[in-house]
Amino acid sequence: MRAFPDPATFTLLPWRPRQNAVARMICNIRQPRGQTFPGDPRYVLKRNLEKAAALGFTYYVGSELEFFYLKNAQTPEPLDFDGYFDQLSSYPASDLRRDTVLNLAEMGIPVKYSHHEGAPSQHEIDLEHTDALAMADNLMTAKLVIKELAQLQNVHATFMPKPISGINGSGLHLHQSLYREGSNCFYDADDEQYLSVLGKQFIAGLIAHAPEITAVTNQWVNSYKRLVPGYEAPVYVSWTHVNRSDLVRVPSYKPGAESSIRVEYRAADPACNPYLAFSVMLAAGLRGIEGQYQVPPPVVGNVLEMTPQRRQSLGIRTLPGSLGEAINLAENSELLYEALGDHVFNSLIENKKIEWEDYRSTVTDYEVSRYLSTL
Ligand code: GLU
Ligand code: MG
Ligand code: MG
Repeated sequence: MRAFPDPATFTLLPWRPRQNAVARMICNIRQPRGQTFPGDPRYVLKRNLEKAAALGFTYYVGSELEFFYLKNAQTPEPLDFDGYFDQLSSYPASDLRRDTVLNLAEMGIPVKYSHHEGAPSQHEIDLEHTDALAMADNLMTAKLVIKELAQLQNVHATFMPKPISGINGSGLHLHQSLYREGSNCFYDADDEQYLSVLGKQFIAGLIAHAPEITAVTNQWVNSYKRLVPGYEAPVYVSWTHVNRSDLVRVPSYKPGAESSIRVEYRAADPACNPYLAFSVMLAAGLRGIEGQYQVPPPVVGNVLEMTPQRRQSLGIRTLPGSLGEAINLAENSELLYEALGDHVFNSLIENKKIEWEDYRSTVTDYEVSRYLSTL
């Protein structure tokens, strides 16, 4: 394989020496004779973006990147014990986060907000929306910058979806919109919630295909330890305007800001491959538009507090509960095959099966402490 740097992505790493400086360039992977490599995730995303472009759409994504700062990489020991939006500047976590944001800005990666998240030592950096390819590149870079700057302070930053039981895991909420000729196709001034028919069809596509794309947005055994009730992560396939327990949320309209109408997908975690995750979310949304899918009514009230009968009567399904379940759904998905292409689809399924079998045959600490003395 050969790596072809994309010169448009050239940017200096501001924390490295200025003399004999170090830069970042994102590369496209090609085969030895120069042909495109179907296993390159960046190529996969480009192919999906071209499909959207053929329909006149540019796909925009904004992202909320959550992660933990830990004392080391061996034990998940928190560095601070602050909470949601805490303004206390616990040393060194908040300076570390601040430094990271400043470095990202200097690299041309616009940061919208950053704050302490709900769990001890959990932080969030929100990247300003850009076109999807730039966002996938930005996310790859942001993860590297977060980790490298932490390492310089002997801190371990992790994007593991659920590093500690009993507290929130880390999500990667993705805010999506489609633009045509510079205007947001999800915005409609005449709708009560300012959400257009196209936006509703895109949501309908995500809702219809969510279970089968989860193996991509949540690709590890550990991802499924996060998708459980009680930790602000989605479990059920539903959408809403207000709640935080649903899979899809449409944040409320900010007067005058057309761009504030967007579709937030809350399932993905920061350990996913963003190129592939964007590819499958876009493919699901476009199916909704092309097939003119009918969106179910938004959920009123908390979906977690409904009886199973009530959820069933509303047609609300669940996300896969384990990597094993997710693989089964993915394997039978024509949409996934189409979006990822033969090469990535087959390698991903094969790879994930190996991981799942490995996990399935491992005796865990849970089993030893629960059963050894009593059975
Ligand atoms: N950490 C939560 C998750 O696993 C999300 C918290 C929030 O609403 O920002 O997705
Ligand atoms: Mg958050
Ligand atoms: Mg969010």
